[in-house]
Amino acid sequence: MGRFATGVTIITTEVNGEVHGMTANAFMSVSLEPKLVQISVADKAKMLKLINESGKYAVNILSEDQQEMSMLFAGQIKEERDVQFETFEGLPIIKDSLVSLACKVYDHHVAGDHTLFIGEVMNLKIQDGNPLTIFEGKYKELV
Ligand code: FAD
Repeated sequence: MGRFATGVTIITTEVNGEVHGMTANAFMSVSLEPKLVQISVADKAKMLKLINESGKYAVNILSEDQQEMSMLFAGQIKEERDVQFETFEGLPIIKDSLVSLACKVYDHHVAGDHTLFIGEVMNLKIQDGNPLTIFEGKYKELV
């Protein structure tokens, strides 16, 4: 699957005032009417329980300037960082993302060791810029 070039997102949610984020590239659009998107979350990810509890999540599509954020929320940067989140439709979002989609869980399906969450897009926020992309495990710039 590493040979499938993708963008990179950070999924964010909040439970009892605690904000959590996780880097994810298993993201796709599903439907236009209603507006649905899908993410895939591993059983072992803390994010799974949190989305099950909150019933909503944001998908933040990263810009080429946000590689460090991607690494931080994938646990590839070990030291703790104080990340300033914005609030959008009652959800924490990552500042300066290309797009942030605020979603409520519409459906979910357990598939092997992952759970597919279909989210209904409540609102979205768009900004200009170039995307962060990944291919064969390496971050790339679009030329
Ligand atoms: P943790 O591993 O505990 O947290 C992840 C990191 O985010 C930690 O370093 C933590 O300090 C930091 N963090 C979380 N919340 C905050 C906060 N509020 N403030 C500051 N830092 C915070 N996994 C999938 O399940 N699905 C995917 O589609 C997927 N795609 C990936 C794509 C890429 C390019 C990469 C690199 C990884 C991908 N992963 C995916 C793996 C996933 O990102 C990691 O396994 C991640 O560590 C799982 O997060 P977690 O919810 O278990 O939380």
